[in-house]
Amino acid sequence: DDGEDGFMPLPSPSVSASHSERRWGDTSSYTPRKILQSWFKLPNGNWDLVKILSTTGTESVVSLTDGKVLKVKAENLIPANPDILDGVDDLMQLSYLNEPSVLYDLEYRYNQDVIYTKAGPVLVAINPFKKVDLYGNDYIDAYKRKTVESPHVYAITDTAIREMIRDEVNQSIIISGESGAGKTETAKIAMQYLATLGGGSGIEYEILKTNPILEAFGNAKTLRNDNSSRFGKLIEIHFSETGKISGANIQTFLLEKSRVVQCTEGERSYHIFYQLCSGASPALKEKLNLRRAEEYKYLCQSSCFSISRVNDAEEFRVVMEALDVVHISKEDQNSVFAMLAAVLWLGNVSFSVIDNENHVEPVEDEGLQTVAKLIECEIEELKLALSTRKMRVGNDSIVQKLTLSQAIDTRDALAKSIYACLFEWLVEQINKSLAVGKRRTGRSISILDIYGFESFDRNSFEQFCINYANERLQQHFNRHLFKLEQEEYIQDGIDWAKVDFDDNQDCLSLFEKKPLGLLSLLDEESTFPNGTDLTFANKLKQHLGPNSSFRGERGKAFTVCHYAGEVTYDTTGFLEKNRDLLHLDSIQLLSSCSCHLPQIFASNMLTQSEKSIGGTLHKSGGAESQKLSVARKFKGQLFQLMLRLENTTPHFIRCIKPNNVQSPRLYEQGLVLQQLRCCGVLEVVRISRAGFPTRMSHQKFARRYGFLLQESIASQDPLGVSVAILHHFNILPEMYQVGYTKLFFRTGQIGVLEDTRNRT
Ligand code: ATP
Ligand code: MG
Repeated sequence: DDGEDGFMPLPSPSVSASHSERRWGDTSSYTPRKILQSWFKLPNGNWDLVKILSTTGTESVVSLTDGKVLKVKAENLIPANPDILDGVDDLMQLSYLNEPSVLYDLEYRYNQDVIYTKAGPVLVAINPFKKVDLYGNDYIDAYKRKTVESPHVYAITDTAIREMIRDEVNQSIIISGESGAGKTETAKIAMQYLATLGGGSGIEYEILKTNPILEAFGNAKTLRNDNSSRFGKLIEIHFSETGKISGANIQTFLLEKSRVVQCTEGERSYHIFYQLCSGASPALKEKLNLRRAEEYKYLCQSSCFSISRVNDAEEFRVVMEALDVVHISKEDQNSVFAMLAAVLWLGNVSFSVIDNENHVEPVEDEGLQTVAKLIECEIEELKLALSTRKMRVGNDSIVQKLTLSQAIDTRDALAKSIYACLFEWLVEQINKSLAVGKRRTGRSISILDIYGFESFDRNSFEQFCINYANERLQQHFNRHLFKLEQEEYIQDGIDWAKVDFDDNQDCLSLFEKKPLGLLSLLDEESTFPNGTDLTFANKLKQHLGPNSSFRGERGKAFTVCHYAGEVTYDTTGFLEKNRDLLHLDSIQLLSSCSCHLPQIFASNMLTQSEKSIGGTLHKSGGAESQKLSVARKFKGQLFQLMLRLENTTPHFIRCIKPNNVQSPRLYEQGLVLQQLRCCGVLEVVRISRAGFPTRMSHQKFARRYGFLLQESIASQDPLGVSVAILHHFNILPEMYQVGYTKLFFRTGQIGVLEDTRNRT
């Protein structure tokens, strides 16, 4: 019996090349299990590991962990793995790949602060919500020298570097998971590893410093995460032929602009506002006429001003230092702060009614005066831009006065635009600083930190875009893993019948089909002057009804069957958010003010068509506008992103949030399961189930189970012994394949042999 010699119950069948012999968890003290165990779902929804005391085939008597004995239907029992497989570091090593077994394995590890586990080629990371001793130079060094092999972000990143050099192919690390799952932290851990291994030129220091800047301007406290990224990010890090970092480039996606002018109770606006208010020097405060955060209307819509364990003033210092590092001049920094203050003061601008038709005019108070001063324009111009709108009627233009709600919308649109442009401008400046020199360099590793699938009680345009992006990424994920599987089968010469593979192309087509897809119909309706959210919803129901991924709902709602589950969207606000219009009056105001920043707006705000029509007026009351809609722009960005990713070797990290209260040591099975399903980890498992996920070499198989044969066939070769074992135990031909070097089994087959072996 070879059970003593560093017991290897199963080979690593994973498609990742390396696997750890020194399996995590102590397996040497293992005593063979004589009793069969199974998973049984308790009334509270949790799985319990029960012992099967007796079974009739249809019914079993089991004892629960709390000692209770029950008679249950056999069909309610799900096979559990032998104890030796407790806490395996790759889920592919499990004989039984079922949901409770996967959940149990992850929990077993999590309880020991082992937050990383492989699911075949995918790294699963469970947020510890506390400091874990897994990082820093000693660990980096150990992974670099390969003296540790347990799954880690460092290991994935190391593989990416090695494959980039070995195969001369660009790499990508694709991080996904829901809000608060740990994507941004994971991305930073990967960047840290790259910076340490590829450092030397100094540029790596700049690259790391982009994090505090982007987080200050693009992250906010939400109910789910105190430091939630409100934008997607791809950072491409370039390496020279010698493997040193030579530069980087950042691309951002879909910043949540609405947060600037409104935020929910318990949440905050972007960190930078609070940092500025509490961290600015007295001189800067005076120059910008800055007050406490509590005095700005945009910030006090929620009563949340601080984050526990975060010192905004100290963070402001960190951000200023980082801005220096990425070569943003002091002058530009001051302009940035002035724009931020202008946004805050804009929120304080109020209006008074001036006639009996409810037309309004901004009140000329401190708010208005300060905005005009900060953006350096005439007060009168600002007043006009906030209270009137120029309209084109034929060849004439007329000036229309605004009502209160129109004026408020105009003011808020202006504030959102200033902020969004500022954000894009900052990213542009950072990119200039990180730019790879003229000399074309070798290869790159890209890290994608993008919002995961979202499904809330109420889902709006933002969720619609985010989930569309996830649908695209999921397809990339599926296709890639599918291909990997196939390659390994082919290599070993086994009969490759197409495995049952669930593609999400249907859902993607629902979004992308022209002219009758969600995006096209949205754009079409957005260009109709009389289009409303309701007419949009009705159009969807009228045209998309037959699509299996679509379902119309009552009123303005519709449901999409995403790969990760059904989501019902409320179309309220869809058209306005998609149009994202800024009136020409505002654009003209921003381009004409004498402050330092019209250049910011020049490049960002005016789309090509707006620039080319020059002085003519913007869409309003029927005039055609060719401004790119938000959805269209996002789709374009996404296509570019996919193109870039297709040309890389991907490495996937799926982040999991073990509880909704950001608390350490709390592992909620139901929540984890839902995310495993959503982010496709169980899908990988499912794909594997459809194929032959368990692999073992002929030698190993013969050695391990040969003794179970009655007559000695010791003289035969491993392949012969293996075949004899398969026949002896009546393993059905469709349950295995014999390859050149390995045997391939369907899920659970080895478990059957293991059970027999352990009873013997
Ligand atoms: P969002 O989609 O909202 O941006 P996210 O997935 O980027 O969420 P993070 O901001 O990375 O989530 O993580 C949330 C918090 O969880 C962090 O602020 C940190 O407190 C904790 N956390 C995440 N990963 C780790 C880790 N590896 N070690 C310690 N704490 C972590
Ligand atoms: Mg994040």
